[in-house]
Amino acid sequence: MNLLDNHVHTTFSIDGKDSMETVIRRGIDIGVNHLTFTDHMEFHNDRFSIDFDKYCSSITELREKYKNYINIYTGIEVGYQKHVKDKINEILSYYPFDFILCSTHTVDKIDVPNKKFFEGYTKEEAYRKYFQSILDTVRSFDDYNVYGHLDYVIRYGNFENNKVIYNDYKDVLDAILKHIIYSDKGIEVNTSGFRYGVESVHPNTSILRRYKELGGEIITVGSDSHRATDVCKDFHRAYEMLKYLDYKYVCMFMERVPVFMSIEKSRDGVVA
Ligand SMILES: [Zn+2]
Ligand SMILES: [Zn+2]
Repeated sequence: MNLLDNHVHTTFSIDGKDSMETVIRRGIDIGVNHLTFTDHMEFHNDRFSIDFDKYCSSITELREKYKNYINIYTGIEVGYQKHVKDKINEILSYYPFDFILCSTHTVDKIDVPNKKFFEGYTKEEAYRKYFQSILDTVRSFDDYNVYGHLDYVIRYGNFENNKVIYNDYKDVLDAILKHIIYSDKGIEVNTSGFRYGVESVHPNTSILRRYKELGGEIITVGSDSHRATDVCKDFHRAYEMLKYLDYKYVCMFMERVPVFMSIEKSRDGVVA
């Protein structure tokens, strides 16, 4: 039985609500076996948003303290921005991360949640701008394991229907997925979509189906929790969907190496 969450924020993230220790205790209470912290590494106002030394030493200390109850791993969620690529690479090679989750939260220095990102664009144009930025990232940046919430853009557009239909973006999505697969990376199944009212995991079923058709195997499941009570939230829905698509394994990472775990043996999320 292996209950794991690969995408967890704490107060080391600006938008995190609960301390690392509170999150760990919650994880233990609900029976989590493997917990990977992925606090935000964002570059804004000429600096990174996290104190890496403190972050890594806190994880080391708490990993030791709770080692008989839960396995804790050091991950990071890189909010990739091309103008700071060298700085990002430097930090990632310096600290001993188990897992690097690459996410696109910002395109051309504009945050995707900001309505400016969408101004003057149709839905298709805005979504293509987002996906093209991911394609540019996977082509030029290599130091990550898994790409986070591939269709995150759908949370923020103010359109009548925010959904991404795979066929409408097939060209760019296929290019992204193929690049990820051929470079031995993976994608994330992120359950926060249910909490953001998009009624789906990120990315949606059509994209996950295509990833499998193209030969994709590396999948991590993450809650993207920003409070302790959201750890492993809605995982039963993610696992049901993965089983429906005939996926057999999910992954976690230790020292940047994927460990495959049978979905059958991974316990469904216990949090309703
Ligand atoms: Zn994110
Ligand atoms: Zn996150």
